[in-house]
Amino acid sequence: MKILLSLGAGLMILASACTYTSQSQTSSASGNPDKDTAQTSKAPKKEATAAEILSKKEVPVLCYHQIRDWKASDSKRAHDDIIPPANFKQHIKMLADSGYHTILPDQLYDYLNYGGKLPEKPIIISFDDTDLDQFTVAAPELKKYGFKGVFFIMTVSIGRPRYMSKTQIKALADDGHVIASHTWNHKNFSEFTNDDWEVQIDKPTKTLETITGKKVEYFAYPYGVWKPEALHKLKEHGFKAAFILSTKRDETNPLFTIRRIIDPGTYTAKNLYHSINKSFK
Ligand SMILES: [Zn+2]
Repeated sequence: MKILLSLGAGLMILASACTYTSQSQTSSASGNPDKDTAQTSKAPKKEATAAEILSKKEVPVLCYHQIRDWKASDSKRAHDDIIPPANFKQHIKMLADSGYHTILPDQLYDYLNYGGKLPEKPIIISFDDTDLDQFTVAAPELKKYGFKGVFFIMTVSIGRPRYMSKTQIKALADDGHVIASHTWNHKNFSEFTNDDWEVQIDKPTKTLETITGKKVEYFAYPYGVWKPEALHKLKEHGFKAAFILSTKRDETNPLFTIRRIIDPGTYTAKNLYHSINKSFK
């Protein structure tokens, strides 16, 4: 019980911990999947080199955490991670009005690794940390515009107060959103021990695959923190790509350091528009 209590306290800190850095990206492949398959069925697709991936135009990826009104007890810094629903709604409407099309990680992976086609003005909208308001506030807002998102779940939080339940996560997956991994309890990836590859990676993957009935192939680093030496291990553990925050990508493994920007609660829709254009070249 003591362990559970301390975990709970840890989670409260984690709820806003994800946002020390900020920023995100997105893209979605359009085109006819059947046609793509037909074109490539005779020869294996050639994977892009790291240099080729790094030279491509980056797809913007946005990162959100809590979507709720600010409280007096929130720190000023926490306002980067907490976006009031009214602001969130304006920002999503701005993306739709500006002609952005949400894409999903498979489309981004196909674009980066195999030169797959993307729709005009592609963007990925992602959510970290399993917060319940992502289901109650964000998902209905995305639906208004036909947008789909990516939800990076830390599995220890599933079913706890203020976090999403298994049923809600399954509903998101069924609705065409992507459920992805954000570790078991938000442990810093750069401090992983050998045991953590089971506890923080393999078990959460199994948990999420059991809930959704779909493969889990994308990962977001807690706090956006990663270390170059361990990136190849994510591939060995079944991941196709992983997402950082707005720091520089790894030159050897760019697929495992895809950049995102946080959309801070303090931003206007116009601020966000300029930030996207400045951050993703
Ligand atoms: Zn996080």
